[in-house]
Formats: sequence, C-alpha cells, structure tokens
Amino acid sequence: MKPGPGRNPAVPAAAGEKGRNGMKTVSYMTCQSRMERQFDRFGRQMPARTESPEAFWAWKKEAGTKLYELLGLERMERCPLESQVTEVCEAEPGIRRERVVIQTEPDVWMPVYVLIPEQAEAKRRAGGRPSCVIAPAGHGSGGKISTAGDQSSAAAALGIRRYHCDYGLQLARKGLVALCPDSRGFGERREPAVQGDRPEQVLASSCRQLAHMAEPLGMTVAGMFVWDLMRLIDYIEERDQWNLEDIGCVGFSGGGMQTLFLTALDGRVARACVSGYLYGYKDALLKLNDNCSCNYVPGLWRYLDMGDIGAMIAPRPLVIQSCVEDPLNGARGMENVREPMEVIRGAYACLGAEDRLCHHICPGGHQWHPEGADLFAAASGEPPYAGWAPEVVKKA
Ligand SMILES: [Zn+2]
Repeated sequence: MKPGPGRNPAVPAAAGEKGRNGMKTVSYMTCQSRMERQFDRFGRQMPARTESPEAFWAWKKEAGTKLYELLGLERMERCPLESQVTEVCEAEPGIRRERVVIQTEPDVWMPVYVLIPEQAEAKRRAGGRPSCVIAPAGHGSGGKISTAGDQSSAAAALGIRRYHCDYGLQLARKGLVALCPDSRGFGERREPAVQGDRPEQVLASSCRQLAHMAEPLGMTVAGMFVWDLMRLIDYIEERDQWNLEDIGCVGFSGGGMQTLFLTALDGRVARACVSGYLYGYKDALLKLNDNCSCNYVPGLWRYLDMGDIGAMIAPRPLVIQSCVEDPLNGARGMENVREPMEVIRGAYACLGAEDRLCHHICPGGHQWHPEGADLFAAASGEPPYAGWAPEVVKKA
C-alpha cells in the first residue's frame, strides 16, 4: 500500500512478512525527491556571470563575499603564527623535509611537512626565488604523511598505494618547494574520537566531530580548512624565501575541495590543480548524501554550485583532473563533471584566458594521476603551456 492523503504515515502501511521484531518494513517514505525539488527551486541563486568581463568581476566580488560568509570565515581569528621548525630530515636523496608548526588561530596549531628540493635551494643561493606549492591531503590517507610521501608509516603507504596521492613529493621532485599540511581533523590534528595508531585510525579524520562543534557556532569545517591554508600562505610570506608571485595549490579529493575553495577566495594563489573534486552538487552531494560532513557547507547550495566556485579562479592557470569511473561524480558520471566544467570554461572564455584552463580526463576510479603534477608544473611559463590543451585525455 502506498501512503495516501488522510492516512497517518506514522502508522505502518503494510504488515507484510513479519520479521523477528514482529514487523517487516516493505516500503519507505523518504525525503529524497522533496529535497531534490527544493534544490531545483532554491538552489544556485548566484550563478556565474560570464557575458562580459565587467559582469564577471562584479559577480566574483559578490559571490566571493557570500562564499566567505557561508564558510564562516568572518568568525575566524588572526593571531601571530609563532612558526617553529621542530625537526629536519631527508625525505629522500636531494629533498630536505622540515616539520614546521604554525599557529593558525589562538591555540590552534598546524604541523606542515615542507619539502625543499636541492635544486630549489640552489636557485635561492644563486639569488633566485623557487616556486612553492601547497598540497592539502584528502580523506583516508593520513594527512601530510601521504602527500609528503612518508612511507615509514604502514598506514600512509596504504593510502599512497590506494590513491597514488603523494603529490607533494611528486611536485618536490620537479623542483618545487611543497608544503604538506595536516588539515584540521587529519593526522596529528585528529580529535579524540579517531585518535590512535592502528592503520584505520591513522587514516581516519574527525570532520564529523569538528562539524558538530563548528556548525552550531556559525562556523564550518571547510571554512576552517581554508582559513588554515590562508594562514599557511601568511607563513610563506613571512618566511619570504620563495616566489611570492607563484604560490600554487594542488589537491586530490578532499584536498581538491580545499584547493578549490582556497584558490577561489585567495588571490595570492597563482595557479592550481583540483583532482577528483569537480562535479555538480545535486548529483554528487545531495543524491550521494553520505559523503563526509566537511562537504556540506550550510546554505551554500542556495547560492552557488561547484562550477561557479571554480569560475572564481579565472583567469589563473587551472588544471581540473577527473576520472571517468569515479563514483563520486554521481550516477550520471562525466555528464555531472562536464556541466560545471562548461561554467568554468565560460568564465575563462569571457576573460580571454581559455588557454589557461585544462581538463585532464583519466580512466578508472577515484585516484590521483601523477600527470596532474606535470600539467600543473607546465603552467609556470607563459601560455600556451607545453602538453596542455583544453582537454587532455589519458588513455586507459
Ligand atoms: Zn571531511
């Protein structure tokens, strides 16, 4: 029996086959279709405007202000960084690794592995300024240990094997200084609920616990991630050893989310690569509603879809990397990737910067493909970039 008007839906519709508890539920009355209609009705009230550069810049200012507010960034508090280098070792021959700790808010500390390749040091000794790149980690990989390629931990080795996500190390091997932070709730910054040294604990993150504390206070986990990365850029400026005109950001999965938001909001990021995190919200986060809580920024969908946030990065060089069988794209697969890509492409076209946007399409499921590091590194020259086309497709 289907629920009908006038019938109390709290009363079971049909007894059906009785289970051990005396009742078997044969049908469910979910909110799914209602929420999808609400998304269509109220969502994306501030879409990217790309009809002219003037319209784009006016929209970007308005959308940036709204995004800053929705992320709760107005509630974050500046403080002295009080940076300290707490250990120095060799990550691998030719790459020094520092563990740096900075204070991002009062009494909130962020450890960062800074990978400094010998060629970057040589450039600096010769009076030059090497480029640097921030590499935030995604979920399930243990934070900075995976992005910095620290395989001394069995858990990180597992994360790297699963996602190939040691992209901080991959970029350092290309001569870039790579800063690999532990985001809030990851690695050394896990809240008590997921602390511990068993591999599954090391790879876990405490986004849910952070969200429960932050959201009722008008703050968000995504906003805290972004704030901490903005403070990491403050640290780069304070340290003043690398090229402040060429600060990059590269992230996969949840690290891609951080890269997307940071680059949209902070003009100090000169170029970016977002991998495994570009799709329309309705399919990828409303219908797939069991993703990590850090993805769900209260109020966000009413104003912006993910393509609009990506559009805010124009005209800076941007690589988007997508895997065709990534289940996080949603049931419509690459269709749900191409739609927001069209929005981003519209912004780049409007600013005459189509040659600064590259969509790298890869086979297989949710993982980082190291060619993303090549494409990102290629963007350091003047466009058109070597090996860079509007769409680069990797063969299976
Ligand atoms: Zn999360």
